[in-house]
Amino acid sequence: GGARIGVTGLAVMGRNLARNLARHGHPVAVHNRTPARTKALVEEFGHEGTFLPARSPEEFTAALERPRRLVIMVKAGEPTDAVIEEFAPLLEPGDMIVDGGNAHYADTRRREAALRERGLHFVGTGISGGEEGALHGPSIMPGGSAESYAALGPMLEDIAASVGGTPCCVHVGPDGAGHFVKMVHNGIEYADMQLIAESYDLLRHAAGLSPAEIAEVFRTWNTGRLESYLIEITAEVLAHTDAATGEPFVDVVLDQAEQKGTGRWTVQTALDLGVPVGGIAEAVFARSVSGHADLREAAQGLPGPARSAPAAAGSGFADAVEKALYASKIVAYAQGFHQIQAGSAEYGWDIDRGAMATIWRGGCIIRARFLDRIRAAYEADPATPTLLTDDHFAEALGDAQDAWRDVAATAARAGIPAPGFATALAYYDSLRTRRLPAALTQGQRDFFGAHTYRRTDREGSFHTLWGGDRTERPA
Ligand code: NDP
Repeated sequence: GGARIGVTGLAVMGRNLARNLARHGHPVAVHNRTPARTKALVEEFGHEGTFLPARSPEEFTAALERPRRLVIMVKAGEPTDAVIEEFAPLLEPGDMIVDGGNAHYADTRRREAALRERGLHFVGTGISGGEEGALHGPSIMPGGSAESYAALGPMLEDIAASVGGTPCCVHVGPDGAGHFVKMVHNGIEYADMQLIAESYDLLRHAAGLSPAEIAEVFRTWNTGRLESYLIEITAEVLAHTDAATGEPFVDVVLDQAEQKGTGRWTVQTALDLGVPVGGIAEAVFARSVSGHADLREAAQGLPGPARSAPAAAGSGFADAVEKALYASKIVAYAQGFHQIQAGSAEYGWDIDRGAMATIWRGGCIIRARFLDRIRAAYEADPATPTLLTDDHFAEALGDAQDAWRDVAATAARAGIPAPGFATALAYYDSLRTRRLPAALTQGQRDFFGAHTYRRTDREGSFHTLWGGDRTERPA
């Protein structure tokens, strides 16, 4: 006994999480497969609090007060299963294993069910904010049983970021709910980053501004409704000059975006749930397109406009981009929250979407003033099917109409790819359109595959004898 909690896996994330716990006065047992990391942690940071270093899993579990609270911060995937198998036999009914890695929620569901059989609580926990967040206060999204949250919550809320006295940590829901929400958070992060990238590209090539000038534009935006961590760091990156060449940093970086997979998971899951998340999907695809150097090289000679739009050079254009960005951001977030709603319904998680917006206000990558608006929207109408119809958002979307369409059209005319803006606008118009051409799609499906259709004026399913006399039969 002696440690209220333990962390195994002491690479950047685990080490900083352990330090965060110790700094908050929680004695923490620390363990790592390779003992050198444990030793280094205690040597470097032992003065920050009470660390109980353990050399073996047996020593580690023996150091923990009961019920034991054990946090795993190892590489996601097979290593997580290996570590669970190593520790589970040393635990007793009622003990809790927290997985703070970036696990796929389906793996978390599987692990939770298997460990529940053995009387153990498995708490798949999304942790966002990277290395710095882990140390100074991340956004924490724990899944698992309500019982385990009662035992773990206070400590997690202690070390989480806090906004206006409210911790950025709340029990998300059973089994994989926490990792699901963390996954969608990352998907939204992809969409947000893509929209910012498109805004930069338009200001650079349609309006002809320099990276330094665009940094100033983003700094100004960061004092208004777009205020967020991502806008803030965008200005920093754009203002940075490469020491080796004296060129803007953004001009010397290879333009091929990489990804670790959580955006892809979000889109794959959205497809399975039947949720349209065009903003996230286009962001994942935009990174993918950028990486296909061979395709891009092959296409260099294709005809199209040079990337400029003289009409965009006026001072009003940056304001129009700001409006287009805000409107598209509202759409991308509305889609992400729809996915949370759909996942919650599919798995019976009963996720409070307003609470998710609340815990994302601090600690995580998408932290922003904007999330307070989402929190307020769910407070006003917890069951709303879409954020778009919230009073504030509907007003912003109305106010953005001319600008949003001008910016999307300017991009198309100038030959500047803006898939994020385009898909957001198309989604918005699709939802508000009274009659969609889906009726024609249904006709085609009935023609070639006898897939049947429903009618606007009568109940039931119907099929037209397309190959015969074209009379209609009830199906
Ligand atoms: P890594 O993902 O690089 O994993 C390294 C750690 O895993 C080391 O402690 C290593 O031990 C341990 N490990 C790997 N394989 C095994 C195994 N088979 N058995 C036992 N231990 C093993 O560490 P990070 O700190 O970067 O990330 C930890 C987790 O947090 C990951 O799941 C990652 O996806 C997630 N993460 C989250 C971030 C966020 O912002 N939320 C940011 C970064 C990561 P050893 O030292 O012995 O090799």
